Amino acid sequence: MTRRILVTSALPYANGAIHLGHLVEYIQTDIWVRFQRMQGHEVHYVGADDTHGTPIMLRADSEGITPEQLIERVWKEHDRDFRSFSVGFDNFYTTNSPENEALCSEIYGKLKAAGLIATRSVEQFYDPVKQMFLPDRYIKGECPKCGAKDQYGDSCEVCGATYSPIELKNPYSTVSGAKPERRQSEHYFFKLSDPRCEAFLREFTQSGERLQSEAANKMKEWLGAEGEGKLSDWDISRDAPYFGFAIPGTDGKKFFYVWLDAPVGYFGSFLNYVKKQQAAGKTINADDFLKSDNTELVHFIGKDILYFHALFWPAMLKHAGYRTPSKIYAHGFLTVNGEKMSKSRGTFITAESYTQQGLNPEWLRYYYAAKLNSTMEDIDLNLEDFVARVNSDLVGKYINIASRCAGFITRNGGNIVLHNKYFNYGATDRGLNPEYLPGAFSAKASAIQMLYNRREFGKAMREIMALADEANQFVAETKPWELAKLPERKEQLIEVCSVALNLFRSLTIYLKPVLPETAKKVEGLLGIPSMRWVDVHKPLHNHPIGEYKHLMTRVDPKQIEALVAANRESLKPAAPAAKPAAAKAPENKVETVTEPAHISIDDFSKIDLRIARIANAEHVEGADKLLKLTLDVGALGTKQVFAGIKSAYDPATLVGRLTVMVANLAPRKMKFGMSEGMVLAASGDAPGLYILSPDSGAQPGMRVK
Ligand SMILES: [Zn+2]
Repeated sequence: MTRRILVTSALPYANGAIHLGHLVEYIQTDIWVRFQRMQGHEVHYVGADDTHGTPIMLRADSEGITPEQLIERVWKEHDRDFRSFSVGFDNFYTTNSPENEALCSEIYGKLKAAGLIATRSVEQFYDPVKQMFLPDRYIKGECPKCGAKDQYGDSCEVCGATYSPIELKNPYSTVSGAKPERRQSEHYFFKLSDPRCEAFLREFTQSGERLQSEAANKMKEWLGAEGEGKLSDWDISRDAPYFGFAIPGTDGKKFFYVWLDAPVGYFGSFLNYVKKQQAAGKTINADDFLKSDNTELVHFIGKDILYFHALFWPAMLKHAGYRTPSKIYAHGFLTVNGEKMSKSRGTFITAESYTQQGLNPEWLRYYYAAKLNSTMEDIDLNLEDFVARVNSDLVGKYINIASRCAGFITRNGGNIVLHNKYFNYGATDRGLNPEYLPGAFSAKASAIQMLYNRREFGKAMREIMALADEANQFVAETKPWELAKLPERKEQLIEVCSVALNLFRSLTIYLKPVLPETAKKVEGLLGIPSMRWVDVHKPLHNHPIGEYKHLMTRVDPKQIEALVAANRESLKPAAPAAKPAAAKAPENKVETVTEPAHISIDDFSKIDLRIARIANAEHVEGADKLLKLTLDVGALGTKQVFAGIKSAYDPATLVGRLTVMVANLAPRKMKFGMSEGMVLAASGDAPGLYILSPDSGAQPGMRVK
């Protein structure tokens, strides 16, 4: 049955560049969309820039331009970045559109008519100089606990205390520097606490598998027990001046909060797309997707915005006469080399810098695919692993098959020729027998299909690479380059290379959702306009091919070095004291003497290396470079270690991580206490310090050898 699906990715905010963290979501969605299309399903993929709110207004103000000018410029940058990574939106639009404004007003009107809008007075910070209400993040002051200056209104970066903005000492507005006042203003609320909303959300979040189980559990927590009244009403208004849509009936004094009009922007973009499609003579009906449950509505989002998408958004839709989402797929965040990326601190690699360094976007698409699964776990972009994996999987295993075999076909008549014996599709023997290989590859189609459909892309990539291994083994054993030296074995040479190219074609079909550009080149080589999933079941025979042209280069580690250098500011540890000198060797690192180049295995085995879980990490009073770590080493118990990694890590980001420790280092009394081992970290001439992480699955206490 043909599925009809409207797919969205979360809307990027229009005040900054697309970075590699954003791309986890867009690439993930795009792969899923391309996969579904290859199955013959009807898929519409829309997005938009999220353009409203105080940050946009103030940023435009500080640049001396209008918000409209700012969002237009950023839209162009975002559109360019998505295109360069082959993120194929059918419509990439803006929330600042007439379609969206009309929808917001309509939805609001219906919620109001249903008795789901309330008004009440709210006290907020007000900047008397700028003459506007300020979100808490624009208020700074002295930490009420330790007195540190210039701390944000919710927590102190120096002592880690959390508090409410009214507790700040000597608060000031970061916009004007003025002392903020607290003023009352009337706000509009969506009554999420209404029994109708609560009853609906219980059903919506706990049935129909609309959410991942971990997300559904989270919702259970947020919803609380029946009658507990845990849901609070949602403030959907902001006072003028505000860049957004005026709330009908408020004389332009009140605006919809950006979080109300952002999700509605999915529908706004879709309506705009439908208009364009209809203008181009296509048959598509907006209500089929926005008001009917016979189609699917699938949202891909980051786990941080689950609350908006799984509670506010469906409750709004339900009570305004629209359909509700079929699936909400939340994913985790991206870390780079095990460190958290932080937009506010600027620790990101931009999409633009990646392409400017001449890196192939399909490398990143593949790497993300190889790491992604259907859970909300974070994924790590380890740059060294990136180079190794792309070079070994994509170039070494996949491209290699075609580059070794295609030339022999073109030099010997240019036709793929298979003998009947290679068509043995009923066979179940998965040996290296060329008679069975193409059939064995096609037999994997449904397993790989299921993995893609469930967003288990990492598992799908492993299946595909296992097939690539078999294809390479076949080429290695049949040795076409040796057959090519013997004129009397030309027919066999063509057969062997024809089998190999058919296997390569199957791999290309399986990888096409991930590598659309490479697939296009392969389609050029094989002279097939657009390969479909089902093509894997019918091998090419008596089929002419074109000239082999280079399909993909290897990643040069120097390119990664250049990328890191170009983003140097952002890759530096975010600690306030990130002076170049701070990245020296850890204080407890043993000075090594230059010994003979080799050690025996016995020497090495004297070192008891163990996987350890960082159970706790904290600053050490009076120590410039040290963090105090409490390590859980499984059966070996708990060990306390002082590690000289303060310059590179915020203790909070370390807790829960797995690393590698030397467990049998003689305990050493330090100024701050006993250190019972050593944590391994990498460092070089350039600033930066990187603790080790084992591959997933390793358990505390395991030996590293
Ligand atoms: Zn403090």
